[in-house]
Amino acid sequence: MRIPAQARIDLEAIGANIALLREHAGGAEVMAMVKAEAYGHGLVPAARAALAGGATWLGVAKLDEALRLRDEGVTGVRTLVCLCVPGEPFEQAVAADVDLAAGSVRLVREIAEAAVRAGRPARVHLKADTGMSRGGVGPDDWPALVDAALAAEAAGRLRVVGLMSHLACADEVGHPSIARQVALFREMVEHAEKAGVRPEVRHLANSAATLTLPEARFDLVRPGIATYGLTPVPQLGGFGLRPAMTLVADAALVKRVPAGSGVSYGHTYVTERETTLAVVPVGYGDGVPRHGSNVLEVLAGGRRRRIAGRVCMDQFVIDLGDDELAAGDEIILFGPGDRGEPTAQEWADALGTISYEIVTRIGSRVPRVYAGRPATRPHEGVRHG
Ligand SMILES: *Cc1c(COP(=O)(O)O)cnc(C)c1O
Repeated sequence: MRIPAQARIDLEAIGANIALLREHAGGAEVMAMVKAEAYGHGLVPAARAALAGGATWLGVAKLDEALRLRDEGVTGVRTLVCLCVPGEPFEQAVAADVDLAAGSVRLVREIAEAAVRAGRPARVHLKADTGMSRGGVGPDDWPALVDAALAAEAAGRLRVVGLMSHLACADEVGHPSIARQVALFREMVEHAEKAGVRPEVRHLANSAATLTLPEARFDLVRPGIATYGLTPVPQLGGFGLRPAMTLVADAALVKRVPAGSGVSYGHTYVTERETTLAVVPVGYGDGVPRHGSNVLEVLAGGRRRRIAGRVCMDQFVIDLGDDELAAGDEIILFGPGDRGEPTAQEWADALGTISYEIVTRIGSRVPRVYAGRPATRPHEGVRHG
């Protein structure tokens, strides 16, 4: 059966991107961030492709995402939950061999108690707030967090295996906060180590830092967006990354309309002359931003065409002029750009957002169709289904 709208995912590109990131990591291990359905690319296939490319860790935001990886057979690979919330089933996470980030004394205590119930020590990464003012504790509260973790470690309830923080402005070349955050992270790591913490990995770098800040790499880097081939620093170019997602849809209908035809809700687009319109069967219900009405371009019949009128929930219209296109012909919404189609970055620029949002928003109604063989380097303990 032909699928009328699909997101094609190039798993080979994901593997190649990880291989490139490994080169930039300069000996540090690579944790592929696969949160939010691997930025819309599909949690499990993307995770496997990243492991095949040489990632040795997986990172997710939410506990549920880690448990899903385990349920679907991605076992035997270190997997970190970056955003834990009090009251979550930490016992289940510990039993599933999942690492947990803790950025408060309360979380350390809850995780320690859950570990007792699970009958094995939890693996915890302490989260430092070095200047993002989001998760983790700042320098004043760091000693108390370290002490709480060391007490739980002495009681055999957990192991502090990681010390981590996150950069606020790594994508802004030369931003003064970057050096401050790196320096403060070093100080906080030093304090924890003097107090007796023996971490396996210290980690700070997202994609932008992995590619541009050697001093931020430490023992492990955590690239997300670059894994999927999109640049974290658009003004510095593409870094040789390969975009992994191509969003395509087959024209549902092609028809001639007279001059003066108002198109889609609100008639925000009116044809200037007799012309050919095509109906494209994806809309904001599939993640095409409604702000893209009359703004975003797609590739139809080898030519760029702008969305004509408002993006609807399930569809939008393009004006083909006198171009010939048949119902059923494929239209490329965005992709790597090598056939002249827009990239996710171009869509993001046109909308005043970031490429992350474009790919992550593509909804569950759009099937992901996988191409490329990820298993260039089968990872121990990971079943390739
Ligand atoms: C999402 C995330 C990353 C990856 O960020 P990118 O900019 O996509 O590379 C790294 N670390 C943490 C804690 C994250 O939440």
